Amino acid sequence: MSIPEQIDQGANAADRRVLVFDTTLRDGEQSPGIALNTAEKLEIAQQLARLGVDVIEAGFPITSPGDFEAVQTIAREVSDPAPPIIAGLARTHVADIDAAWEAVRDAERPRIHTFISTSDIHIVHQLQTTREDVKGQARAAVAHAKRYLEDVEFSPMDATRSEVEFTAEVVKIAIEEGATTINIPDTVGYAMPHEFQAFLARLYELVPELRDVTLSVHCHDDLGLAVANSFAGVLAGARQVECAVNGIGERAGNASLEEIVMLLRTRRADVGGLDTGVNSRELARTSRLVSRLTGYPVQPNKAIVGRNAFAHESGIHQDGVLKERSTYEIMDATTVGLESNSIVLGKHSGRHALHDALAEMGFEVDGQALNTAFKRFKEIADKKKAVTAMDLEALMSDELRGEIPGYTLEWFEVEASSRRPPHARVAVRLPEGELAEGSFTGDGPIDAVLAAINTAVGMHPKLSDFKIGAVTEGQDALGEVSVVVEIEGRSGSGQAVSTDIIEAAARAYVRALSVARARTLEPRDAAGLPATAP
Ligand SMILES: [Zn+2]
Repeated sequence: MSIPEQIDQGANAADRRVLVFDTTLRDGEQSPGIALNTAEKLEIAQQLARLGVDVIEAGFPITSPGDFEAVQTIAREVSDPAPPIIAGLARTHVADIDAAWEAVRDAERPRIHTFISTSDIHIVHQLQTTREDVKGQARAAVAHAKRYLEDVEFSPMDATRSEVEFTAEVVKIAIEEGATTINIPDTVGYAMPHEFQAFLARLYELVPELRDVTLSVHCHDDLGLAVANSFAGVLAGARQVECAVNGIGERAGNASLEEIVMLLRTRRADVGGLDTGVNSRELARTSRLVSRLTGYPVQPNKAIVGRNAFAHESGIHQDGVLKERSTYEIMDATTVGLESNSIVLGKHSGRHALHDALAEMGFEVDGQALNTAFKRFKEIADKKKAVTAMDLEALMSDELRGEIPGYTLEWFEVEASSRRPPHARVAVRLPEGELAEGSFTGDGPIDAVLAAINTAVGMHPKLSDFKIGAVTEGQDALGEVSVVVEIEGRSGSGQAVSTDIIEAAARAYVRALSVARARTLEPRDAAGLPATAP
């Protein structure tokens, strides 16, 4: 049977639009070492809206005051160019659903996403309850959420390791109570595509009412099959795919948003016209932003958004592509927004040119923010021949993010030599306003600066991650540094860009300290984080 024939037999045959449900900020943020603050999450959410995703799962509001605040801020502020649905995750507990509602209620299009496991492995060992109780909790949770809003999504967690008949019973209950989206998660990344497709087909047989709601899939990449399983789900009738930018997420991650989008776009004619509403030209930029803010680099050979995804190394391939692109390219790099360096500014560019270039990229910057951006731009333009869209992107995510109250680097000096250990001195403005100085002799210039900062602030945090990269190619490229530190078990991340890599490291480090410190001041949730989520 060909794929179009399969689709025509699928439950939602007539509907060829696949909704993109982005969970970068919820499942993606559960990756170890990722610690985004509200301003960073908002920046990513705004870019997701520009990308044109249908749903943004902004977080899991009950888990911490920080998560709640981030979801609420996104719900209130993200509406441009079109308001996406903003979803908050909740277990079946009343308090979870209440928190999710409070967090999303100000969105133009709010959604509550509630879940409970249907696999016996989870029911017996994790929930330590019975199947009957799971059914009761699912019913009560959806009914409770429906008192607040129309748009309710329900997930039977670990569905692919559950008995399909029992999953069907629970799904039926959720639909009876008014769930408008049913999401089937392959929580542990165990399914195979043909098996997943058969599971969903059987579910449609057992629950004919599924045709009246949106079927969704949520696949993990533990066996490298997240995108393949998501695609199998779409062929079986799913019209929402849950995915994350760069495929980040729990363990091996989620289905990669850019891969599922470009799979459907590139093979659209062969998959019966199935497609998403995503503006693919924003994919590369979204990928870079998520990579920069999470500190998770994208592997060079990553499909769609990797640095080498469109590079041709072999002579035969290069020869072919030069003669005719389609010889070895199935997609055009410009359709995913790579090589889109149309914006180039120089040291003579004025405030107006910077304003227009930023506006073209979707940043509306005026007044004091424009002055700040212009000052940084000038510093960079003086050292670099050409400032491109990619440099501006890095600068924007560095400079114009809402300042986190905490420490500020005032100045630093470092002496580096191959003949004696490097020595650094720094001055840091403390949260209380006073200036503290510190000095240190370290193994290398960056090590010395970071240790001098520790001396100044009187803390010795654990440095859990430190990465240096270049924003663009070339000797005069901007350097970018991302840092994750841990204080009293609370982690904080910071990023900074500069033509001077030591300065970038020092500023990123001070930011990470500020974020981690702010987190140590938050009240701790006595119940702790839920162990897992779909
Ligand atoms: Zn997940």
